[in-house]
Formats: sequence, structure tokens, C-alpha cells
Amino acid sequence: MIETKTTWKDSGYDCDHCGGQILERTDQETGQPAQVCYQCQMCGCQWELSGDILRVGNMTSCRRAVKNQEAVQVNPVHLRLVIVIGALILFGLVYFGGLVAVRYLIPMAITVFVFRAVYQLGKERMWW
Ligand SMILES: [Zn+2]
Ligand SMILES: [Zn+2]
Repeated sequence: MIETKTTWKDSGYDCDHCGGQILERTDQETGQPAQVCYQCQMCGCQWELSGDILRVGNMTSCRRAVKNQEAVQVNPVHLRLVIVIGALILFGLVYFGGLVAVRYLIPMAITVFVFRAVYQLGKERMWW
């Protein structure tokens, strides 16, 4: 006979959708490895331990939050575009005049920013 036992434990997190308490849910099925996920007590959203959403709750704020999260995940392309446009605008500013300090500081800031973005992107994709 297969029995499922669910245990709940306080995860210590608060839900950023509804502010409810997030519990750690462990489903133990006989003869199976335990399945652990997070579940919000209020809105019922479920997350994997890695933070990926498993099930979206019924509240409007849940759906909005998930949409925002998707927007963030699309970001790498978006981010690169912003960097390129930002760099072009700043180089234009520097090219067409501006304070002497700006000429040196801004390209330096852009270089640091771009290297940082590339480094983080590479780390995310596990290039290094
Ligand atoms: Zn919630
Ligand atoms: Zn939610």
C-alpha cells in the first residue's frame, strides 16, 4: 500500500505576492524519495527549492508577480540592448563635447559596467 505523508515546516520566508507565511512542504511517498517544495499559506503558490515557480496561486498579485519574473528572465537580450544604447548615448555626449572629467570618467564607468555585465552573464550560463 502506498501512503503519502505531507509534513509542513516554517521556511522563514514571507511571500512577496501576498505577504503570507511560506512553508516548506515535504511529500513522502512510501518507497519514494521525499519531494520538497515551498508553499505559501495564503495564496497557495508553490516554488521549487531553487526558487522556480511550480504552481501559481489564484490571487491577482501572484499572476502579476509571475509575469514580472518572466520579464526578468527575458532580460539578458534586453539588458544588452540597454547597454548598447546607453553606451551610444554616452559616447555621443562625450564626442560632442562635455566636461573634461566626463570624457575620462564615463568611458571608464561604461567599461567597468560592461565587463561586470559580461562576467555575470557568463557566470549565469556557466562559461566559467
Ligand atoms: Zn503568497
Ligand atoms: Zn502567490
